[in-house]
Amino acid sequence: MKKDTIALHHGYDHKKCEGTMAVPIYQTTAYAFRDASHAAALFDLKESGSIYTRLNNPTTDIFEKRFAAYEGGTAAIATSSGMAAIFSSIINVAEVGDNIIISDKLYGGTVTLATHTLKRFGIEARIFDADEAKNLEEIIDDKSKCIIFESLSNPQIAIPDIEKIVSIAKKHKILTICDNTVASAALFNPIDWGVNIVVHSTSKYTTGQGTALGGVIVESEDTVNILKNNDRYYHFNEPDVSYHGLVFSELDAPFVQRVRLSVIRDTGAAPSPFNSWLLLQGLETLDIRMQKHSKNALEVAKFLESHPKVKRVSYPALESDKYHKRAKKYFKDTLCSGLLSFEAESFEAAKKIMNSTKIFSIVVNIGDSKSIITHPASTTHQQLSLKELESAGISPSLIRLSIGLEDSGDLIEDLSKALRD
Ligand SMILES: *Cc1c(COP(=O)(O)O)cnc(C)c1O
Repeated sequence: MKKDTIALHHGYDHKKCEGTMAVPIYQTTAYAFRDASHAAALFDLKESGSIYTRLNNPTTDIFEKRFAAYEGGTAAIATSSGMAAIFSSIINVAEVGDNIIISDKLYGGTVTLATHTLKRFGIEARIFDADEAKNLEEIIDDKSKCIIFESLSNPQIAIPDIEKIVSIAKKHKILTICDNTVASAALFNPIDWGVNIVVHSTSKYTTGQGTALGGVIVESEDTVNILKNNDRYYHFNEPDVSYHGLVFSELDAPFVQRVRLSVIRDTGAAPSPFNSWLLLQGLETLDIRMQKHSKNALEVAKFLESHPKVKRVSYPALESDKYHKRAKKYFKDTLCSGLLSFEAESFEAAKKIMNSTKIFSIVVNIGDSKSIITHPASTTHQQLSLKELESAGISPSLIRLSIGLEDSGDLIEDLSKALRD
């Protein structure tokens, strides 16, 4: 099946559900077992089925299967938020004394998680330059557990040298984790380029209308080969005492299985069935929405680029953009999603623009069907020091736009007035 068909049909058989065309919402906490031995077989993984909604749920299960197929992976697990997906992925492989290698261009929440919260767990974050991956190889050692980067970074709108990062990772048999939230699974599929683990905040484009918080982790078929008999991932190759001696590398999709049976079992960041249902609705229209988001964003970017009061525009579909060559190489039809940023003349000018737009709402979200304007220095990235801001490439006058599905002419007129005021 091609992606457009997967988005609508994969993983669900209406014949088994009274002919119901929409996937039913299984709004339940727990499930009755046929008898004691059925319960034992489920816990022992001898039979598959639902046990408790913290571990699995039939509605969520369909979303997971569908999303995994759509991203080109073998398995997926949905989580309660994007941050839960990122945290779960990291602690699935790293523990006290280990280090993780992170891109210098990441979502603010991921930066604080990696450099502050995980530090308190004894996990060190080492930062590499994602543009050229120049210093990547030299900071990897035998305690390095994963390399994390974003395919289209929020808020810099940068595209890393994905091929180079993956080739270095393969050489050292270390897992790559790509946050594909901004690009979306419709426009880019990291697994096609050799990435092992793909994470998303599904709160953004996947749900699409700003209605459900969620996250997802997708595992590539190849991941088991990195984990198996690799001393770096010894805990996947030894009997797990918390799961009566299970050896995870002997299972299919060991990364996702371990997130489910160990990490989410113990930390509890599972999604609600209702949110999984909303995400299924979103996935159905993801591709056509991403086309319109991208088309609108390019028109707005071209307008801003030609405006005298705009110092710089970052949008990789623009020919003048630093990442244009990579956008052409990696993204479907050079469609670059709905996120763009530009630099106003000053911090004060940026604030004035924020206060003058009428259609754009001041919201710290992206990927909504409605257009959004954000000032990272005073909101999403406020907890970063000036030095951290600078090294993340965020100037105080930077404005980030998440272009929605409105008429592009209306959006341009709104910005034009705000820049004039
Ligand atoms: C929003 C976002 C996250 C965090 O996701 P939540 O669902 O808000 O927890 C992670 N990465 C990127 C790139 C994001 O845009």
